[in-house]
Amino acid sequence: MGLGRSAAVVIGSFPLGESDRVVTFYTRDFGKVRGVAKASRRIRSRFSGALELFTLGELVFFDGGRSELVQVDHFDIVRPFAHLREDLERLGRAAWIVECVSRLTAEHDRHAALYGLLVRSLRALEGPTPPARVAVCFGVRGLDALGHRPRLDACTVCGRAYPFRHAALGAGGLVCEACARSETGLVLISGAAVTAFERLRLARWEEALAAPLGRSEVELGALLDLQMSRLIGQPTRSAKFLRELKRLEPTAGGRP
Ligand SMILES: [Zn+2]
Repeated sequence: MGLGRSAAVVIGSFPLGESDRVVTFYTRDFGKVRGVAKASRRIRSRFSGALELFTLGELVFFDGGRSELVQVDHFDIVRPFAHLREDLERLGRAAWIVECVSRLTAEHDRHAALYGLLVRSLRALEGPTPPARVAVCFGVRGLDALGHRPRLDACTVCGRAYPFRHAALGAGGLVCEACARSETGLVLISGAAVTAFERLRLARWEEALAAPLGRSEVELGALLDLQMSRLIGQPTRSAKFLRELKRLEPTAGGRP
């Protein structure tokens, strides 16, 4: 296909050989793209720090068509999102967001809505909104964008209309109490969390970031991580990091 050019976010990388790096980008025009950035680990590399995680830039790559990996020609920084790497809570939430994008998308599968959501979420994480809220807003809309919106208006097993008492959440959506007895892998979801979920899904982005959610926010955060983990097929690595962070900083989660 030759030369490609697109706005892109760095969503992962690992070293290759002595001086190269394999970088995963989520691009606006091509979806997920993995490429080799030659000599990017040398001190006088032409990429000079541009390939840091979360960096938004203009990517130019060459796709020879013979390998899954493209060749990264240029990556010019548009916005480095450097603050996300300076604060562990922001870092953890941003890492969760890019992990979901990275692990739930196929290469070269363009998805402009998901790209827009990713950039909007990283931008919000640099702002005054608490990082946990940004992650929840990303999660609700990310499931939508990925085509995995859970059904919240009826039991996904018997079709009984919601509301019902003691709702549980399965991979596809709500399950009523009667059906939940014969299903496995369900978790309870409170009525307040169901309401908050719908509210965040329908609200405009800025409204969703600011909407008062009370204790539903923590519940939703855990449920969204569970849904993402189900889709990925294993627990998210970044959620584990966040849990360890909370243990190290006992005051972080306990402030009134
Ligand atoms: Zn049912």
